[in-house]
Amino acid sequence: MSVGPPRKLYDAYVFDLDGTVLLGDRLLPTAAETLAGLRAVGRRTLFLTNNPTRTPAQYASHLSALGLPTAADDVVTSALVLIDYLKRTQPGARLMVIGEPALVSLLEEAGFALVDDPARTDVLVASFDRSFNYAKLQAGFDAVRAGARFLATNGDRYRPTPQGGQPDAAAVIAAIEASSGRPCEQIVGKPSALTSRYLLDRLAVTPSCCLLVGDRLETDVAMAAAAGMSGALVLTGATSRAEAAASPISSTYVLERLSEILPAA
Ligand SMILES: [Mg+2]
Repeated sequence: MSVGPPRKLYDAYVFDLDGTVLLGDRLLPTAAETLAGLRAVGRRTLFLTNNPTRTPAQYASHLSALGLPTAADDVVTSALVLIDYLKRTQPGARLMVIGEPALVSLLEEAGFALVDDPARTDVLVASFDRSFNYAKLQAGFDAVRAGARFLATNGDRYRPTPQGGQPDAAAVIAAIEASSGRPCEQIVGKPSALTSRYLLDRLAVTPSCCLLVGDRLETDVAMAAAAGMSGALVLTGATSRAEAAASPISSTYVLERLSEILPAA
């Protein structure tokens, strides 16, 4: 069973967004003062989301407008992890993307050619796409059956919203897997080690000096534990205290609200 809240400061803090800092288009209680408190004592802070339907610059202006001043460099999405992974493993790949405009624009800016011809596709990228339809499924199906690699930005089943949720990339991945018979080769977002390695490189800290704060045990907390980082589960999103107590995934800390990560003076 986990303990909490922490009694010390870490060198660096990574915050999940949906359910941790944001719910829908609102800041969760204490988010702004917690970030301000950590920055005031010189701690490095980074936001991390699996959701690539906004660019880092768009997330930064959204958070800033809500009262949490943020620079684009403070935001990491699964799109950045994907770009890093593709540059290292398959530079010059021609990509077919089932995803939203923010993801498409970042991949183009990174220099990748986007194609819609399955026969010319080196890599199919499956993602959260609120305009997913049969024509896109057909194209993705044809691409993987023609031999394209099959990657995904994230594997989340749904995005929590004030109304309940929105079906996320897991639904797109499942449709292609079910029809083609080909499993997705790599999901780059949380809880993948590709994401934790990318974060730790960006922060330039050793894992034990970093606290990852999130609302999901199976992504946020599991990835932190696997990477040797401390993990704090905050009960403002997808996980209840009863679910946390019953789960085999144990977090370093369990918090009712974000401000508990600031040690009491
Ligand atoms: Mg979350």
